[in-house]
This record gives sequence, C-alpha cells and structure tokens, in this order.
Amino acid sequence: MIPGSAIHAAPEDWAAQLRDRALAGPRAHDLPAILDAFRQHSDYYRARIGDADWPGVPVLEKADVADVPVGDAPDLKASRTSGTSGFQVTIRNTAREREFRRALLYRPQLFYGLPAEVNQVVFVDGAWCAGPADAPKWFSYGGTTYRTWFCGVAGDPREIWQLLITLRPQLVRGIASGIVRFVETVDAPLKDIGVRIVAPGGESLLPEWRRTIEAAFRARVLDRYGSTETGAIAWQCPDCGRYHANADEIVLEDAADGLVATPLFVSSQPLLRYRLGDRVRFDAGISDCPIGLPTLTIAQARRDDWLVDGNGQRVSPLAFQFEQVPGLRAWRLHQRSDGVLTLYFDADAPSEAAPALLAAVQATVPGRRCELVQGLWQVPATDGFSSKFKRVSSELAGRTNPSA
Ligand SMILES: [Zn+2]
Repeated sequence: MIPGSAIHAAPEDWAAQLRDRALAGPRAHDLPAILDAFRQHSDYYRARIGDADWPGVPVLEKADVADVPVGDAPDLKASRTSGTSGFQVTIRNTAREREFRRALLYRPQLFYGLPAEVNQVVFVDGAWCAGPADAPKWFSYGGTTYRTWFCGVAGDPREIWQLLITLRPQLVRGIASGIVRFVETVDAPLKDIGVRIVAPGGESLLPEWRRTIEAAFRARVLDRYGSTETGAIAWQCPDCGRYHANADEIVLEDAADGLVATPLFVSSQPLLRYRLGDRVRFDAGISDCPIGLPTLTIAQARRDDWLVDGNGQRVSPLAFQFEQVPGLRAWRLHQRSDGVLTLYFDADAPSEAAPALLAAVQATVPGRRCELVQGLWQVPATDGFSSKFKRVSSELAGRTNPSA
C-alpha cells in the first residue's frame, strides 16, 4: 500500500478530504516510505529501485509500463491511452482506484459554487448522443448530486443542441476540440441556455478555443489537465485562474525533458517516476488564493497546431472529422517543412479506411501531397519533443507562425 493518498480513507470521506487538503496546501511526501511500498509491490520494483534514493530511481518510460507486474484483483479493468504521443499504453485499475480517479476528477467542482443539484452534459468520443428523455447517470459528491448525460463529439449538432436546450445544464465538460466543433457548427444560440461553467479537458485548450467557448455560452471556461495513466493532474482555479496541481495525490517532478509523475492512489499497477513528457513547470511562489495546492504552467500548450494548404491558407485541426470514417481507431496528421503531409492511422479494415481518409485530407488541405502510413504514429519530434496533446502538427506552421 503506497502511503499518502486519501484513497485509504472511506469513500464517503473522499470529497471532504480532497477539499481539506486542497485548502491546506502542499504536503511533504515521505519519499523513503513510498519507495519502500514500491519495493514491497514486486520483484520488478525491488530490482529497479535497489538502494537508490528518489532521484536515483530510473524514470519509467511508456515502453516500460507493460513490464510492470499487476496485482491480483477480481475487479481490475484495463484502459488504453489515446496514443497521441505515438505510443499506446494499457493501464489497469481496480474498481476502488477507478472510483477514486473520479473523485479526483471532480475535485475542482468542490470549488465551483454549483447548486446542490447539477445537470451536466459531457462531450465524449463517438457519434452517439443521449436524448433529453434518457435516464441520466447519478453521482453524489461533496454535497452535490450530479445528473449526467453524454453526447458524442462527432454526433449531430442539432441533437446535442436539443439535449442542452431541454436539460439546461449548469456544467458542460468534455473533449475541448469537440465542444469547439459543436459551437462552430450548430448555428443556434447557446448563450441563454444557462450554462455557468464549461470545463474542457482531454487535450490542450488553445487560447482561441477558450475564447470561442466563452463567447458562445457566455460561461466561464475552467480547463483541466490530466492523463489516462495518472488521472487528473491539475485544474484551473475559479478563484485565481491558475492551474492547481493535485500534488498531494501525485508526486510531480517538472523535469527539463518533461513531466514525471508518481500517482499515490494506484497500487494494483503502480507507476513510479513515470515520464508523461508534457512540458510543464511549477510556478514560482505561492499564489494568493484560498486553495493552497501549488500551481503550474503547461508550456507545451502554446504550440501552433495548424496546417498550411497549397495556397498558404491555415487549416484548423478541427477541420478533420475522421471520427466519421468507419473502423478508424487512431490517427495523426503531420506536415513536413516541405509541405508534404503524412497521415498515420490505425483501422480495423485499413484498405477500406485509406481511400476515405485520403479523400478527406485532399478536400481539407488542397494543394498538398499526402502519404498514408499504417501503424503507430512515428511522427518526427521536430523540437526533440513529442507532445501528447496534438493529433495535427506542422513543421511548416511552426516556422511561419513563431508568435503562436
Ligand atoms: Zn487558485
């Protein structure tokens, strides 16, 4: 059992503990005790740690995760990462760990000032959209009861609009680019729905996406940052606007070559000094905020994602709606400095997906040659660094828009 996490408390106390700890501020981690717990987990970690102290323990890379032994539990469930970094990882959590991940995900909402009963609509991967008459998913947390409906980001915008206008949710969450795509395609007024807060996540929130969402809903946008491997890492604060890190639940190290994370609440397949690679740094000093958790800045989020077509026009990453291609499992589009595009993809029936993908790229980025590459995304790291955030990247755009 890894010490330090609120997961060891009774589940009904999680919200109160996570609230109190957020207000109390930084906690010192007992690093030797944490290393001892990892040694006890398995021979794998015993050999890996040896007699080293914390900084001497080798960093766990994505490719190493498959070697980490998984504890025996009947309720283990696996989930795959999206693979936007070019490497997919399978993560296994017990039911209790999954429930705690949700508690941590909901932590910022303890400070949103929401009413006791909240309707929320969550934008998820896929094309399916709940109807207003469908039964919601119920969840009580921190004194608030959430009724949740889901809509697929590739779904019919009119169906999503019907859901919103009928349920009038106070809170909208989900995939940032999906919310933006909905806002830009729905062609219906959203400002009077009564949405108070939009909390996107799952990918880097570009500044123009934030402005688009704020203007459309006339709501506050409070971003989140996390990963499949570690759960919720940081969240934008309704009070100070900065990103508070869940540094009490995850040991975070802002190394120069990317963020290294040790979640303390995962004991079944624990990750010790796991390299996420996102370029993140802790802010200097403590912010003037009732929430005492340290704040961080996500540097990688400020890169330019746009492609440039044969006429020199910029093409938004949102222009690509490959979710509509049947059987497509993963994709990433990269533009070399000579303008040529490479679409890396993974599909159930590659020979059927390929022509649809090629036609879509040629229609969206006219005047550029496109090569298809089947398999994992071997995108060249143009700056020695591959981002987990992006599915579209361009060496050309990065050069022509240095201010972005
Ligand atoms: Zn704050």
